[in-house]
Amino acid sequence: MRYLIISDIHANLHALDAVLKHAGSFDRIWCLGDVVGYGPQPNECLERLQQFPHVCVAGNHDWAALGRLDLNEFNSDAQASAVWTQQQLTAASHAYLEGLPERVVEADVTLVHGSPRDPVWEYIMFPSVAKLQFAYFQTQACFVGHTHAPVVFTYFLMGNGLEACEQSGLPVEEKISIDQARQIINPGSVGQPRDGDPRSAYALLNTETQELEHFRIEYPIATVQRAMKLCGLPERLSSRLAYGW
Ligand code: ZN
Repeated sequence: MRYLIISDIHANLHALDAVLKHAGSFDRIWCLGDVVGYGPQPNECLERLQQFPHVCVAGNHDWAALGRLDLNEFNSDAQASAVWTQQQLTAASHAYLEGLPERVVEADVTLVHGSPRDPVWEYIMFPSVAKLQFAYFQTQACFVGHTHAPVVFTYFLMGNGLEACEQSGLPVEEKISIDQARQIINPGSVGQPRDGDPRSAYALLNTETQELEHFRIEYPIATVQRAMKLCGLPERLSSRLAYGW
């Protein structure tokens, strides 16, 4: 099976469509949450995702769009976009988001938005935090999103019995094996990259070979920025797309 692994689409349909086109053929999508929030096309992104065999876990922005979160947890731009998104959602979109699970285990892989320990909220930014997460899932690999930055955390048990965790980048267009060690892998963000590279990020996993490949691709950023402006979404949220932060 070939799995398309995507995260943090953030209502950016142009980026999602660019990824779907570039990925070519795949059997199923694993989506790591935050389909909506920030961007101008929440319903369209949910509809597009549902055109494919897929599973999706809940992200904090998906819950914010449902009014399930206290928006005081968000900065002012995120609050404004969450309120706008709440107003846009169709009944079908609302029902779809309501049904999202916090965690999925499929094909011996764990999928969550934030972290295995706190699936919707916790950010895994550092090896010290990543190391603690391996006790909270049973599979060899866990895929996460939420930080919008591609990364791999690899778990080691050292000779003295102490646990260690090493952080590495996710190489672009280079197949890496995921059956060698326990790992937490973030494929990066489709719709709002935050690692200084504005191109959409995604990964493809071939479960026959256990090989993962990561890609970065261009999408029409200026078109999305214009759409955000027309929707009255905060200027800072559209300008950040151009510099990938
Ligand atoms: Zn996000």
